[in-house]
Amino acid sequence: MISRLLPIDKFVPQAVVDSVQSIDLKALKESGVKALIFDVDNTLIPYDDRSVKPWHTTLFESLKALELQTIMLTNNHHKDVSNFAEKLATPIIMAANKPLKTGYKKALKALQLAPSEVIMVGDQFMTDLYGASRVGMATILVRPIRRKSEKWYTKILRRLERRMKSKVGRQYPALKKAFDEIHDV
Ligand SMILES: [Mg+2]
Repeated sequence: MISRLLPIDKFVPQAVVDSVQSIDLKALKESGVKALIFDVDNTLIPYDDRSVKPWHTTLFESLKALELQTIMLTNNHHKDVSNFAEKLATPIIMAANKPLKTGYKKALKALQLAPSEVIMVGDQFMTDLYGASRVGMATILVRPIRRKSEKWYTKILRRLERRMKSKVGRQYPALKKAFDEIHDV
């Protein structure tokens, strides 16, 4: 099984949160974080509603006020996703092929920052967390916004994710609790 071959330390998030809105941006800023890289699908918007909500605007305004840079990193290549980023005046790297390192490196280059200064925010272990950890970036795992509309390939990754999650949970009891309570996918 592929999950046996994957290193467990690449799947350990720094925090597990209910939604992007629950991230303590001030605390991140104080800890030295200079930028956030956001996954898009099911982290910022669900597949079945691509509109910008007031909370998105508030969030990106708060980030700006704190002088935290932002960029979106997605495997998606559709126009609705680039439109979403554009409406929030945030740069986006599309068709990023997460968990390959290429997209993350591109993002770091665009931000002109080192991996230790950036945090990846996403809803998936196998793409968001694994890819970010491979380039030495810390991660925040969020509960997926709406799972019902997930694509078939995401459903396959979720199966693998469940195996990795239970491995990580066995080693880190506090994370097991957070996975059970928040990221019960
Ligand atoms: Mg996602």
